[in-house]
Amino acid sequence: MASRALQRLWGWSCSAPGALPLEHRRSYEVVAQTFVLASLGHLLFACVLIGLQIPLLIVLNLACVATNTAALMLHRRLQLHRAMTVKLSATLLLITSSVWLIGPDAGFEYYFFLLLCEMLISDMAARYKIVMSATVGSVALATLLMAPHSTPWMLEAEAFREDIRLTNLVMVFLILGLILWRLHAITERCEHHFRRDATHDYLTTVLNRRAIFHEADMLWQQGRDFTLLLLDADHFKQVNDTHGHTAGDEVLRHLAYIVRAALREGDRLGRVGGEEFLIVLPDSTRGEVLSVATRIRRCLADQPCRMEALTLSVTFSMGMATAQEATSLQTLIDMADRRLYRAKSAGRDQLVMSDLEIIGPAAMS
Ligand code: GH3
Ligand code: MG
Ligand code: MG
Repeated sequence: MASRALQRLWGWSCSAPGALPLEHRRSYEVVAQTFVLASLGHLLFACVLIGLQIPLLIVLNLACVATNTAALMLHRRLQLHRAMTVKLSATLLLITSSVWLIGPDAGFEYYFFLLLCEMLISDMAARYKIVMSATVGSVALATLLMAPHSTPWMLEAEAFREDIRLTNLVMVFLILGLILWRLHAITERCEHHFRRDATHDYLTTVLNRRAIFHEADMLWQQGRDFTLLLLDADHFKQVNDTHGHTAGDEVLRHLAYIVRAALREGDRLGRVGGEEFLIVLPDSTRGEVLSVATRIRRCLADQPCRMEALTLSVTFSMGMATAQEATSLQTLIDMADRRLYRAKSAGRDQLVMSDLEIIGPAAMS
């Protein structure tokens, strides 16, 4: 129960708003996650510092939790620069005060690098990053050069100095590791989305034209034996004209679903035109291709596309060509296309397997 509530809180805090384009989501989510993780880190530090009795740093750590929360709210409203500026200013003040009060060799200076890294992975403009990097660098340098070498707290913390330095080192190591791990995980997720969008047809979710031709090209380059089966829905314009474009889209989705289900493992399906699909069948005999075509035809006849008060039956005309028949991939595609149009002119709902072989509906049922 508590873990589900935490998960939802994490999701709410860190997931990008739906309207944000995919290319900006990665940086959005990583930065949001660093805001949340940094707040947890500051809370932890505030607890540790209670033991050391340094009230100023306890207050500054709690103030950083508040500013990080404010930064997260700004970030969620997509005021990214403002959010990062609020967070950087508060953290810079905290790091500087920590170095100033506890000394320049207690490991607080490591956090300057963390701050720089956090800012550089964000989605800010290059101009902003240059200005902020210069600011962080100058403040870090000035602090390390000018920090006093003796304060009452330094004397107090003297016994724990090495412990504090090690704790800071481990914290920076963990936080940096966590940021890089999250960055990698989110990058992988985004890349998966980009790859899927670049290779799949949005409407039917089968491969798109470029991807299916790429599959055929790979097989051709490898000198593999394969067959192309080109399918075109018959009289599809009538579906749109009579029932509307939305019904037409639904039928296209249904056609893709039926064809995909009729294929063997290893066969590839793509949408190469409006109502035109291409199947690539590696290492298949003519008999196997015929049985795939027959299965498609039978499934379409058995399962017409059903929508509310409407049932629509669609047939395919098909043209087939095998790699051995052509001297180039383009010739092979043209051959399948020519045979598809022969199937159309022969009355539709037919499969043309070669220049001499036409398989009619009766032979495929
Ligand atoms: P044929 O049997 O000769 O192939 O006739 P047809 O009507 O299927 O062929 P035609 O090329 O005349 O028409 C294809 C139609 O496919 C026209 C176009 O509106 C429709 N179409 C193409 N892409 C889409 C799409 O994404 N969604 C919908 N709903 N229709 C589409
Ligand atoms: Mg058609
Ligand atoms: Mg067509």
